[in-house]
Amino acid sequence: MDCIFCKIVAGEIPTSKVYEDEHVLAFKDIHPQAPVHVLVIPKTHIESVDKLDDATAELAAKALAAIPKAAREMGLTEGYRVITNVGRHGCQSVFHLHFHVLGGKQLPERMS
Ligand code: 5GP
Ligand code: ZN
Repeated sequence: MDCIFCKIVAGEIPTSKVYEDEHVLAFKDIHPQAPVHVLVIPKTHIESVDKLDDATAELAAKALAAIPKAAREMGLTEGYRVITNVGRHGCQSVFHLHFHVLGGKQLPERMS
């Protein structure tokens, strides 16, 4: 499958890993939009939140549970923002479910 995040999971594309376990990988975004910008993904390919069902939601939950671990690893003691883009209007560009974890500064109040 031609998915850049699956290639990262497979070790075919190098990345800066922040956290990893059996089901989840967290790594630094290549184009950070905040002092800390980490992507947390399930290792299994799921297109987006919009494609979740009861079975795949368990994998998404494992990715969610890894977010505080990645945040601790990055020293985000004052909070952070978690974003997941979905589809065209959401400006999703990589179609493998991922949670952006942004922080390291006071983020703007507005989200859109
Ligand atoms: P999206 O726009 O789909 O919500 O987010 C995709 C994110 O993946 C973008 O922030 C982009 O910078 C990041 N990204 C795309 N390709 C790579 C890559 O090869 N390595 C890393 N570390 N991040 C990537
Ligand atoms: Zn994938």
